[in-house]
Amino acid sequence: MFKKVLVANRGEIALRIICACKELGIPTVAVYSEADSHSLHVRFADEAVCIGPAKSYESYLNIPSIISAAEITNVEAIHPGYGYLAESAYFAEVCETCGIKFIGPAPEIIDLMGDKARARARAAEVGLPIVPGSELIEEENRDEAPRFAEQIGYPLIIKAVAGGGGRGMRIVRKAADLEEALATAQSESHSAFGSAAVYLEKYLVNPHHIEFQVLGDEHGNAIHLGERECSVQRRHQKLIEETPSPIVDDETRARLGNKVAQAMRDIGYQSAGTIEFLLDEDGEFYFIEMNTRVQVEHPITEMVTGVDIVKEQIRVAAGLELGYRQEDIALTGHAIECRINAENPENFRPSPGTITAYNPPGGPGIRVDSTAYQDWLVSSHYDSLIAKLVAYGRDREEALARMVRALDVFIIEGIDTSIPLHKKIITHPEFIKGDYNTSFLERIGVVK
Ligand code: ADP
Repeated sequence: MFKKVLVANRGEIALRIICACKELGIPTVAVYSEADSHSLHVRFADEAVCIGPAKSYESYLNIPSIISAAEITNVEAIHPGYGYLAESAYFAEVCETCGIKFIGPAPEIIDLMGDKARARARAAEVGLPIVPGSELIEEENRDEAPRFAEQIGYPLIIKAVAGGGGRGMRIVRKAADLEEALATAQSESHSAFGSAAVYLEKYLVNPHHIEFQVLGDEHGNAIHLGERECSVQRRHQKLIEETPSPIVDDETRARLGNKVAQAMRDIGYQSAGTIEFLLDEDGEFYFIEMNTRVQVEHPITEMVTGVDIVKEQIRVAAGLELGYRQEDIALTGHAIECRINAENPENFRPSPGTITAYNPPGGPGIRVDSTAYQDWLVSSHYDSLIAKLVAYGRDREEALARMVRALDVFIIEGIDTSIPLHKKIITHPEFIKGDYNTSFLERIGVVK
C-alpha cells in the first residue's frame, strides 16, 4: 500500500479522500490555496502545503505547484478527486513521469473518454448502444453538417467533444436554426475548452439520466455497482440522485450492468468510473459518456452496496485486486442524495459569505459529506457545493422520510442555500411517486 498520498483537491471530496486514507492507514498531504487555509481538509490531513493564491488556475490547477508539493513531502501517489485535474490526461502523465502514482485510470484512457466523439466510437466497439449521432464537425467540414442533421433528424443536440459539467451543448429544433447554432457552439466550445470540434446527436425527448458505477483493477477484473438515477437536473447539472432508480428493474440492472462490466474489461479500465446512459421514452438505453473519476454522487452507491468506492479506488491504484467479485454485490435498501449549494434557491445565483450558524442533521440513515462549519467563509472563488446530504432507508419510502426530516433540521445561516428548493422537490407528489425525468424541474416550474 502507498506510504503517503497527496490529495490534489479541496472541499468535501478532499475530506472524503482523507477519511478513506485514514481507514487504510495511509498518511495524507493536503494542498490548499491562500483562501482555504482554514479549511477542514487542511486541518485533518497529516501535512499541508500552500500551493498558491485563491484563483483555481494559480493553485488547484497549478500542476508545477502540486508536483513540487508532492516531491517536497515525498508522497507515492496523488488522488485528484473530481473536477480540477481529475480528468486531465496531461496531469496523469506528468505524475507518471515524476514517478508518482496517479489514482485513476491510465492517461490514454482519460484522453479517450475525455473526447466525447472518440468515447462514443469506443463504446460502440465494445457493444454499448450509443445515441444516433454524426461524425466530427470541425471548421473545414461545417458545410456537411446539414447532411448529417438530415440523417439524424430534428430535434438534435450539438455537443462539444471536449464539453463537460453540462456546458458545451446546444439544442437545435429545426433545420433553419442549424447554421447559426453551429457557429455559436463552435466558438463557445473554442473559448471554453480550447477546441471547436463538435458533433451532432439525436435529442431524446424527456429522457432519464441513468448511470452505472464501475470498478476495475489491473488484474483484468471489473464489476458494476448498480445504477444511479440522476434525472433531477437544472441546466443539465444534477441536483438530486437516487439508487436504485425507481424505473430500473432487477433484470435490466443485471443485463446492462454485466454489459458495462464486460465493456470495462475490454477497454482495460483500472479504477472507479461511471458510464452514463440516457433512457428514452421507449425504454431504450443509450451511452452518452464515461467519467473516469469518482463522482460527486458516489455516496448513494456506497450506502446501498456497502462498498467504500474511494478505498477501492486507492487499493486498485496500489496494484491490489478488487476486494469484491460481482456476486458479492447486492443492492440493499435505498439511498438519495441532495446537493446543498450555496446559492439563492430561486434564481440560483451563488451566495458566498460566512456561515453564521451550522447544524448538520444526524440520526439513523443520514450521512453528510461536507467541510462546512460555523464561521467558515464560503469563498466566491470555488464551486458552490457545500454539503452532500445523503439519506438511506430500507426502502424508498423510508429514505424519503429521512431526507425530509433531515432537510428540516439542517441549519445553515448567513448565506442562502438550496435547502428550500430540495424540500420542494422531495415533497412533490410526482417525485414521491418516482415519476420524473430530466425535464421534471422545468415541468414543475422550478426552472424556466
Ligand atoms: P456533461 O458532460 O456536460 O455532463 P452529458 O453528455 O453527460 O454532458 O449530458 C448531460 C445531460 O444533458 C444529460 O444528463 C441529459 O439531461 C442532457 N443530454 C445530453 N445528451 C442528450 C441527448 N442526446 N438528448 C437529450 N438530452 C441530452
